[in-house]
This record gives sequence, C-alpha cells and structure tokens, in this order.
Amino acid sequence: MYKRPAPPPPGRVLFKPFRTPGSALPSLASSKPVRKRKRVTYKEDAVSSDSEDERRKKKAKVVRGKENDLHYGDDGEIEVRNINRLYRTYELSAPRPQVLMRSFAIPELRNSKGELVPTIASRAALGLLTPKTIPPRPLHDPMADHAIVLYDPTIDARETDEERKERLAQEEKEKEAREAEEKSKDGGLWNPHGKSLREVLGIKLKKPEPGKDDKVPVVIDPVLSKVLRPHQIEGVKFLYKCTTGAIVENAYGCIMADEMGLGKTLQCIALLHTLLKQSPRSRRPTIDKAVIACPSSLVKNWGNELVKWLGRDGAPGVLSVDNKGTKAELIEAVKRWVAARGRNVTQPVMIVSYETLRTLSVELTNCEIGLLLCDEGHRLKNGDSLTFQALNGLRVQRRVILSGTPIQNDLSEYFSLLNFANPQYLGTRMDFRKNYELAILRGRDADASDKEKENSEAKLKELAERVSKFIIRRTNDLLSKYLPVKYEHVVFCTLSPLQLALYRHFIKSPDTQKLLRGQGSQPLKAINVLKKLCNHPELLNLPEDLPGCESILPADYGNSLYGGPKLSRGERAIRDRGVGEEVRCEWGGKFLVLERFLDRITRETNDKIVLISNYTQTLDLFEKMCRSKRYGFFRLDGTMTVVKRQKLVDQFNDPEGKEFIFLLSSKAGGCGINLIGANRLILFDPDWNPAADQQALARVWRDGQKKECFVYRFISTGTIEEKIFQRQAQKQALSSCVVDEKEDAERHFTADDLRKLFLFNEGTLCETHETFKCKRCKNGKQFMKSPALLYGDASTWNHHQNPELKDMHDDLLRAECGEPQVSTVFQYISH
Ligand SMILES: [Zn+2]
Repeated sequence: MYKRPAPPPPGRVLFKPFRTPGSALPSLASSKPVRKRKRVTYKEDAVSSDSEDERRKKKAKVVRGKENDLHYGDDGEIEVRNINRLYRTYELSAPRPQVLMRSFAIPELRNSKGELVPTIASRAALGLLTPKTIPPRPLHDPMADHAIVLYDPTIDARETDEERKERLAQEEKEKEAREAEEKSKDGGLWNPHGKSLREVLGIKLKKPEPGKDDKVPVVIDPVLSKVLRPHQIEGVKFLYKCTTGAIVENAYGCIMADEMGLGKTLQCIALLHTLLKQSPRSRRPTIDKAVIACPSSLVKNWGNELVKWLGRDGAPGVLSVDNKGTKAELIEAVKRWVAARGRNVTQPVMIVSYETLRTLSVELTNCEIGLLLCDEGHRLKNGDSLTFQALNGLRVQRRVILSGTPIQNDLSEYFSLLNFANPQYLGTRMDFRKNYELAILRGRDADASDKEKENSEAKLKELAERVSKFIIRRTNDLLSKYLPVKYEHVVFCTLSPLQLALYRHFIKSPDTQKLLRGQGSQPLKAINVLKKLCNHPELLNLPEDLPGCESILPADYGNSLYGGPKLSRGERAIRDRGVGEEVRCEWGGKFLVLERFLDRITRETNDKIVLISNYTQTLDLFEKMCRSKRYGFFRLDGTMTVVKRQKLVDQFNDPEGKEFIFLLSSKAGGCGINLIGANRLILFDPDWNPAADQQALARVWRDGQKKECFVYRFISTGTIEEKIFQRQAQKQALSSCVVDEKEDAERHFTADDLRKLFLFNEGTLCETHETFKCKRCKNGKQFMKSPALLYGDASTWNHHQNPELKDMHDDLLRAECGEPQVSTVFQYISH
C-alpha cells in the first residue's frame, strides 16, 4: 500500500509534484477553469490518527453489501472504504527499488556564509528526449529460411525512383539555400565571422548520409513465400523488377501472360502486398494506392483471393466497386478514396470492373495511383477502344497487364498492349509502323524477295529483343512437377446411323447448297445446326430445323426438349424425374461412348467426372440421362450466385460425396471453379476459341489434384467438329480468331471457308490425322512412338486407331477397343 511520507518541514525542501514536460506549457486544457471535484481521501488506509473507536463508528455506517458504493463523510468528502474492491490492483512482481519510492527533492544550496540560498522553481522543462535513431531495417528478415529477397542493397546499388526524386528535391533545397546566402551577403547584413552561429558554437548536426547503408532489403512476406512455387517466385521477381524500373530506366510496365493455372493472381498479390508495405527505404511503402481492373465477374474473386492468401488481418483494405448501390454512393466512395493520403489510406486497393472504371475517369484524373493491374488485359489490345483510352488516362506509371492467352501475332495488337504497359517505349504508333510493322509485314508476303524476308526477320528479332524484357509467359508444363500425370485424349467418335442420315440430308439440302454458293444469309445458323446434330439429334427442333427430314426420323422420335409446352428448367426437371424418360444414347455416337464411360466409372472406380458442353441443351440431356440411370450429379448454371456456386463446388470436391458427375456449361464463366474432386473430364464439343477449351480443361488438372487425370475431348469424326478442332490448332495463323469475340470469328467466314466447313468427310477414320501426313503411322498403326509430345501440336501426339486402343493406359478407352464408335484417339501425356 502506498504511503505518503510525512511532508518535510516547510522552507527546507522544496516539494514539487512531478509534471511531464509537455504540461509545463500552457495547454488548451489547462487554460480552462478547473472543474470542482470531490476530493478523495484515503484516510482509512493512510496512517491515521483516528482512534479505534472512531473507526468502528464509521464502519458501522456502511450498509452491508454496499461496501463498494461511494460514501460521503461528514465533511462532504468522499471516503473510499476499500479502494481495492473498486479498482483492481496488481501486485508488482518485484519490490520497487527504494530510490523510486523516495520523493523528489531539490538539493539545498548554501552560500559561503552557510545561508540557505532560496531556490526558485522555474517552469522550464528538463528537456526533451532526443529521438532514438533506429537503424533502418527490413520489414522481414532477409536471412530467414526460405526468405525471398526482391531487392538486395548490397547487390543492386542502383538509385531507385524515390531516391532520385528525393535527391533532386534535396539538391533544389541546397541550391535555394546557397542563393539565399548569396543574397544576404549582398543585402548588407554582415556576418563578421563568415560562419553561421552553429559553426561558431561548434554544434555539428549529424546529417544522415544517404548511402548504401540506409537501404534495406525488400523481402516477400513470409506468409506468401511459404506458398509460392519456384516459377511463381521467378514471376514475382520479374514483376518487382519491372514495376520498380530496374530493367529499363523509366519503363515501369510489363505483361504477364502465364497460362491458366500457374497462379497469376497469387504472383500479383505478392507484388501488390510488397509494394504497399515495403521499399528499399526502411519503413516506407513504395506505393500508397493500387487499382485492380478486371471483368465485373471477377471483382469479388479478387477480394476473396486477397483474403485467401494474406488472411483477413493481413489483406489490405479493399474498395470493391461492383455496381452495388447507387451511382452517387459509388462516386462518393471513389472521391473519398482519391482524397485519402498517407496514413489516411485505409483502403489502398480498389478493385473495379473495366466498364465502371471507364465511367470514373473524371474522378480519377488527378489521383496518383501507384500500381495498376489489368486482369484479362487482352481487352487493351485495341488502342482506340474506350477502355484503353480511359485506363491510359490514369495517372499511373506501374502498369501490369495480365493475360492468360498468348499475344496473337497481330502486330498492331502487340503494339497496343506494349504501348499501354510502357508508353513511349516503342515510340508512337506511327514510329512503330515505320520502324517495324511495315518491314516485318513486307517480308511475310508470299512474293517477298529474299532480301525483304531477311530484313523482316532481322526487324522481328530486334523487336522481340526490345520487348521480351517486359513479357513473361510460362506454360502449364511447369505444373507437371507438382501434379500427377495427365493423359489428355482427343477422342474421334463416329456418328450414329441417325446422325449420319441427318447430316447427309443437311449437306444436300437446297438451303445449304445455296449457302455454299455464297447466296445464303445465315451461315451461323447452319453451323449451329450441324454442331448440335453432332452432339445429339434431340438437340435439334426436328423437323423444323432440317426441313424434309421426316422420312429419316424414327417413329419414336419425340423430342422432349422441344415437344410439348415450353417448360422452365425446374419444371422440366420435375417432369424428367418421372419414369420412362430416357435419353436415346444410341442416336448419338458421342452419347454412346459417354454412356459406356459413365457406366464403367460407377461400376469399377471411385473416380468423379466433369462433363462440359457449349450448349445448355446438351447439359439438359446429360441431366436426363443421369436421372434415368440414378447417377448422383451436380449442375452448375451461369445464373447461379457466386455463393451458391462455391457451395456446389465444395460439395462435389468432398471425397465423401456420392455425386460423381459435375455438369458444367463452358459458358458459365467459371473463374474460381476448381473441380479437383474429379480426375476425369469430358469436353463434349469443341469451341472455336482454343482458350475457352483450355480454360475448361484446366478445371481438373490443377493445384491440389492428387490422382492421375484423364481428359477427353470428344470430336465427331469427319464432321464440322473436326474442322473446328483443326482451326484451333492453327490459331497462330489466324490472328482474327481473337480471344473474346468468338462470334466474330464465326462471322468472318468466306464462302470458301464455309465450303470447307460443310464438307462432310464420310468414311474417314480421322480427317485431322490425314492432314498431318503422319510419318509415324502406317496402315492405321503407329509403329514409332512420338519422340517428343508437344502440347500445342497434335501431330506430335500418340495416334491410336481403334484396334490399337487395347494398349492404352486408360481403362475406359481400352474398353472401347472393338466398339464401332471410337475411330481414332490422339493421346498426350503430360510427363
Ligand atoms: Zn500418326
């Protein structure tokens, strides 16, 4: 218990309560009149002169149970009876040193006569503590195990951007000071010493020398370095180098074009997190704010990814602009975001869709943004588009373009992307055209002279050298190190007799003939009819879609998808649960194979499978088949909310779940749909866009997959589907077949293209194989194994015709040996 010592005799020692230095100055609070407060006495606890009797009397006043209430004494003062009951106190672990218990007294001072010299207390503070200089240190330990150092001051002594700015400012300041000094010399104020007062007094201000020693390593947050794969570390290093201008002075942009599944998002999050938290200068971030621009369907996903990798506490604050709330609210939020500076930036990251960002260009014009990430950045390939203009108008130097698709060899698109990432690096569009484009294109002309060709090659090489510093692209092959083997197959299936008859009928029909003469007006419709027919005749509304086919249709052709009143999917599902509704698999060649596959999977394995089609109607048929055969399945729709989707995906991935089929529309826009619970996948029909197919295929063979994977791409032999597949393969040559505008690709057909497209190669076992002019196969037998499988080139894959299926690794395909449906299989093995 604290005991106040007896006061010293007055006059001898000056007793002064301790004040903090700050309180010595008159503050706002102290200038106010002091509020009268009840004084608290601690009489009971202090050594008191009260007699025992008096104490007992006082105690008696206390009502039981109210000991802790404030109690007022006779003099109106509050008496606290048991202060320890009111305020909990904690025992000190060690006794306080005695010296601290003593009160502070100013020593007395006597003159020569022995008289006491009165000490007059000044209110001056004793002085402020000199700020401790903490040596600069990195945020994370660069010497720790597995630490990933992005910037090492001992190696990279290059002046960073911030340093240059700071140095220039410093130089400017010094110059001004010198000028001011010069002026004062002329101005008549004469300093006899020629020195400043500081110099006369010999005070030396320690000026921090900006040198190498002050810089600290930039180290990736251990939370992230734990999860980064080697190729991702390389990617983050690349991104960091580019965005800090370490590769080429004043070029801060880059393009990351890694394939799907390599973790572009994680790499970008690592970059973002590092730039927001660290820089070579200790305790200072490189950037304050960042913008992530992405398609609107991905806005939420980015927020989730940040939390997923950095944790709820570690993730930076995010302003998610996803068109919820009114426009006014949105603008208000963005204005607040723009106005925030320094420590006030609570939401350093804005995630916004391209469409919304375009409307915000006014609000963002003057806002300094540290980093701009453009997801699905191939949208910027058109330099005249509004999106490009709006984004290019932002005040941001560090620009990272993310794109999962290879940059097509269309030079002007190539230029747009690079020019966005690093404006002016390649000069203006005109410069680029003059310097590179014309020469390169001339050399590619069929009738170019040798010299022109040579020149073109040289220019291309020069261009590649200049720009490859800013582009990183890795393929999925890298993943093979972490993933089980993937067997990918292109399965060519023959048409069923019914399909065959209908196909022939379609080709011969007057409408088609007219189309082939270049007179028809609806090639798209015709293409769609053929594509659907290849899947299953029931996808067509017969006989309307194929006039005159009545004689071909079997007697029991009753189209459940079209017949009867139009039903919603839910209603149809209820109806389909009824008995007797079965899919006639024998009417579709691919369906027969699918039926056998599913049957074998349920009977012989505990594998799960994903079925993907371009047409929701195909999914309807799948669904019907699953119901009639009592297979457990899930179906993911484009209309589903993100939460619902995720729930479905989680349920499917649960190894205990009995649903083994997942129906997925390739249009469901499935970002974040990760179906590693399945190790088999059937792509039931090919898409014009190879990137879309790749995206679909990547659902299963990705991080976390533990089983061997079997991927099947079903193609109807000799039909339009083979043509689509071949077109995919030569995507490089067809730069017009660009990523987003799939429909456009279909519109771009010339009459000649169409003729080829509708050419039905009946009786072939695999038209595609015929186009290869394969030297490894003879008489339907591959006598020489492929020396090296190249993923993008099916001619290097293993080729198996039906009799050879008996040697395949996959049980399902082996069982197809001898069945008439599968005519040829191309096989790719990941590693
Ligand atoms: Zn071959």
